[in-house]
Amino acid sequence: MFSLPNPNNRPLLIGPPSGPEPPYPFRMEGKVISGFGRGSKELGIPTANLPVDDENTWIKHIDSGIYMGWASLKLPASHPNSALYEKPHTTEPVMETIIPSSHEQLKQQHTEEEKGVSPAQEEKNVDQERGQWQIYPMVMSIGYNPFYKNTVRSAEVHVLEKFGADFYGVEMRLLVTGFIRNEKDYSGLEALIADIEFDCEVAKHSLARKGWKVKELGVVREGEEVGELDGSWLVR
Ligand code: ADP
Ligand code: MG
Repeated sequence: MFSLPNPNNRPLLIGPPSGPEPPYPFRMEGKVISGFGRGSKELGIPTANLPVDDENTWIKHIDSGIYMGWASLKLPASHPNSALYEKPHTTEPVMETIIPSSHEQLKQQHTEEEKGVSPAQEEKNVDQERGQWQIYPMVMSIGYNPFYKNTVRSAEVHVLEKFGADFYGVEMRLLVTGFIRNEKDYSGLEALIADIEFDCEVAKHSLARKGWKVKELGVVREGEEVGELDGSWLVR
C-alpha cells in the first residue's frame, strides 16, 4: 500500500500509459563525478552527478526541474551491486577492497591519465574490470550549477536502488523519459525531503507501466509485465 505523505495532492502517475511522448526520450552519458558536497547522502538521497558538456544540447534548453527515466551503470565486478560480484573470501574488514571507485582510486586514475595512458590501454583496463551495464529506474534533477554562478547546467541522478558502495568514476547512461515537476523553494528540509520521496514514488510507479519500462530489464519479478520501451541505447 502507498502510504507516503502527499501534502500537495500530486498525481502518482505521469504521462499516458502508452509511453513517453515527443520530444522524449533524451539521452546523456558520462562518468560519475563528485557533486557539490551539499550532503545529499546525509539526507538519504544521494545524487550521482554527471558532467554536462556541449554534446548535451537538449539539456541546455530544457526547463529546470525534476525528471524521471532509466539509468544504466557499468559497475565493475568489484562493486557489491555488480551481477558479477563475488564476495571476497576473507573475514578481514573489506571496505577498502570492495569500494571500486573511491575518491582515492579516482585520484589515481587522474594521475594515470596525466601520465598518458593510451585509449587502448584504458579499454583493456575496463575489460579487466569486467564491467557490465545494469539498468535501474531513476529520478533526476536538472538545474543550474552553483559553482558557475548559475549559468551552467547541472545534472544529478538519484538511482532508485540501494547500493553497497559508492560508484564515483563509473560510466552512467541516462534515458530521460519524462518531466515530473518544476524546481521549488522550500522553507525547511522536511518539506524538501517529502517532495523528493514523492518524486521517487512517481518515478517508480510511472516507469513500472509496460509502455514506460525498458525491454532490456526483462521480467524482474514473477507476475510482472515485460517492458515495451526501447532501452537498447542503455546497454549497447
Ligand atoms: P556528491 O556531492 O559527491 O554528489 P552525494 O552525497 O550526492 O555526493 O552522493 C553521491 C554519490 O553517492 C554518487 O556519486 C554515488 O557514488 C553514491 N550513491 C550511492 N547510492 C546512490 C544512489 N542510489 N543514487 C545515486 N548515487 C548513489
Ligand atoms: Mg550529488
